[in-house]
Amino acid sequence: MIIKLKDKIHCTGCSACCDICPVNAITMQSNNEGFLYPNINEDICIKCGKCMKICNKTNDKEIFAKPVKVYAAINKDKEKLLKSSSGGLFSVIADYILSQNGMIAGCIFDENLIARHIVTDKPDLINKMRGSKYVQSDTTHVYQRIASLLREGKKILFTGTPCQVAGLKAYLGHIPENLITIDLVCHGVPSPGLLEKHIKWRQSKLKGKIIGLSFRNKSRINKGTYYLMKLSCENKTQYIYSWQDPYFQAFLQGQDLRESCYTCPYAKTERVGDITLADYWTASDLHPSLNCKNGVSLLLINTINGQKILSCVKNKLDIIPTFIDEAVKSQGNLIHPCSRPQIRDSIFQNIDNIGYDKWANSYFYSSGYIKSKILCSIGSCITPEFRKKLKRIISSK
Ligand SMILES: Cc1cc2nc3c(=O)[nH]c(=O)nc-3n(C[C@H](O)[C@H](O)[C@H](O)COP(=O)(O)OP(=O)(O)OC[C@H]3O[C@@H](n4cnc5c(N)ncnc54)[C@H](O)[C@@H]3O)c2cc1C
Ligand code: SF4
Ligand code: SF4
Ligand code: SF4
Repeated sequence: MIIKLKDKIHCTGCSACCDICPVNAITMQSNNEGFLYPNINEDICIKCGKCMKICNKTNDKEIFAKPVKVYAAINKDKEKLLKSSSGGLFSVIADYILSQNGMIAGCIFDENLIARHIVTDKPDLINKMRGSKYVQSDTTHVYQRIASLLREGKKILFTGTPCQVAGLKAYLGHIPENLITIDLVCHGVPSPGLLEKHIKWRQSKLKGKIIGLSFRNKSRINKGTYYLMKLSCENKTQYIYSWQDPYFQAFLQGQDLRESCYTCPYAKTERVGDITLADYWTASDLHPSLNCKNGVSLLLINTINGQKILSCVKNKLDIIPTFIDEAVKSQGNLIHPCSRPQIRDSIFQNIDNIGYDKWANSYFYSSGYIKSKILCSIGSCITPEFRKKLKRIISSK
């Protein structure tokens, strides 16, 4: 039998094939762009075909469900809301599962600022799961651990990108009652290798080791952005708006995403999780009765399991039914993947050729950065309406 996994364009890096291999012949290895891909050790492989079978299952029609209810929702606990990326829904659901003696699987930055999935019931580690990390998280061997905990009868909440939820479901082969899954509406992920280079570049500018990184800090929320990066060193903290950061901009513009993200099979309204969470940028216009100032989530309930969870946490939320047709207007990744810009052909090669420092510094001479800087400098002196008009004029130039 010839063992062939998905090609580079379609492999999401979910790592289900690696976890299922009975002889540990598969390891996830960094490619030249810094993304993890499975690598088969032919000397160990016994040609059982399990990896191929599981990989094909990650796209099975049966794992998708149509949302049955759609809401705008906000965690009433202000402290947790302010530490979350959007409406703090993950924390509400995680707290409930913990109260049922369950465990939570989600993404943290480890001590080396590498994003990885862990399974835990320790509140300090669950706190670290809060906040979107705009980089691919390493899920290697997490599905194995979840499967064994589920067999012991533990209730498990798994949260992650849709391809990770699909990887878990394919690995398990069936959906146990004690598993609850949350998928995120997903723009795509840059590579861990690129973030590592970025952190080194920022450290050299800061002249200190970065020990904490948040992409969605809310401490300047009144100034009207949720895309504020917070870098914490031992004795200083720096706040950087997304337009001031080359890594953040490349991510938001979809220039450096994993190849599979541009043809993502999960970028549609049918979802793989029991529950789907997303930002809900237009909620304040559609639902003026909700106080969306500190963040609001779009919440899709896709299964009966999802409905049961919502009924248990509803009293912890400010929640209002909303319309999927309206939500998709501000949420493109609910209906299509990000388009692949031409710059994606050369961005990683370019960074390799000229070095990360030179690539990152060149961003500050780009027209995009200069336009944002002009807008920002005059932004504080003018009305929001005039600012919007000006933005339109500058963007059309
Ligand atoms: C890479 C990425 C891309 C996203 N793209 C979009 C988008 O295009 N549109 C949109 O509306 N929303 C997107 N989101 C989701 C959004 O940013 C919020 O995560 C979501 O609204 C939930 O927010 P919250 O306030 O409930 O919880 P939070 O507490 O902020 O959510 C944290 C949850 O996200 C998980 N998580 C964090 N980083 C990662 C990661 N790198 N990989 C896997 N899981 C992770 C954690 O495990 C935790 O469960 C994206 C999130 C990520 C991580
Ligand atoms: S199972 Fe996941 S990681 Fe393995 S080849 Fe398929 S998509 Fe890639
Ligand atoms: S064919 Fe079987 S032994 Fe070989 S890599 Fe795949 S799962 Fe492992
Ligand atoms: S865009 Fe699709 S393939 Fe890429 S990380 Fe998100 S869910 Fe996975």
